[in-house]
Amino acid sequence: MNIIIMGAPGSGKGTQAAQICKTHNIPHISTGDILRKNIAEGTELGKQAKAFMDAGKLVPDTLVIELIKVRLSEPDCKNGFLLDGFPRNKAQADVLGGIVDIDVALYLDVDLSVIADRMASRRACPACGFTTSVQAAPNGKCRECGAELIIRDDDKREVVEHRLKVYAEQAAPLVDYYKAKGVLKTVNGMGSIEAVNAEIEEALK
Ligand code: AMP
Repeated sequence: MNIIIMGAPGSGKGTQAAQICKTHNIPHISTGDILRKNIAEGTELGKQAKAFMDAGKLVPDTLVIELIKVRLSEPDCKNGFLLDGFPRNKAQADVLGGIVDIDVALYLDVDLSVIADRMASRRACPACGFTTSVQAAPNGKCRECGAELIIRDDDKREVVEHRLKVYAEQAAPLVDYYKAKGVLKTVNGMGSIEAVNAEIEEALK
């Protein structure tokens, strides 16, 4: 199954994506994670992407599209994959549609007020990419690998505001785009992690 997961920054996409991939045994392809890994490793792509990401702006389409083409051609994508954070605008969606067929576009619907609260408390692991909240990890350590959790540069308040604006302008219209293609499944993203996951599994049946 070729799946896209969509939703505003802070809608719980990353958490749900990880769970779906475990359940269905498909790779979790997060362009944000791939870009952050490139920054951490100091690659040319990372160097080019960093300033855009720190400012909450989209990385240029040419860079991200190239990255995704390479990733989707890897053998583990043959039996399906889940895309998280891509496509982010219509141009990316058009290119994607030319490379693969999308079976389901999941949309996690979450109120903006909930999102602002979630993002203020979000903590990330710089070592393995695990994301959690300050409430769920009061000791400040990563549950998966033990590293010290951080606030991502792009989770800082002013940057979050900008990311939400970019989302509303460019990514939100993709909900209608995939609805028109007949593959959209909207899920209420405001329940517990387990409740949202159960609703997603129902939608994927
Ligand atoms: P995310 O972890 O998905 O919220 O992505 C973090 C940041 O990475 C975004 O704010 C963008 O700067 C960049 N990014 C991730 N995916 C894309 C994409 N598909 N197109 C452009 N920029 C992206």
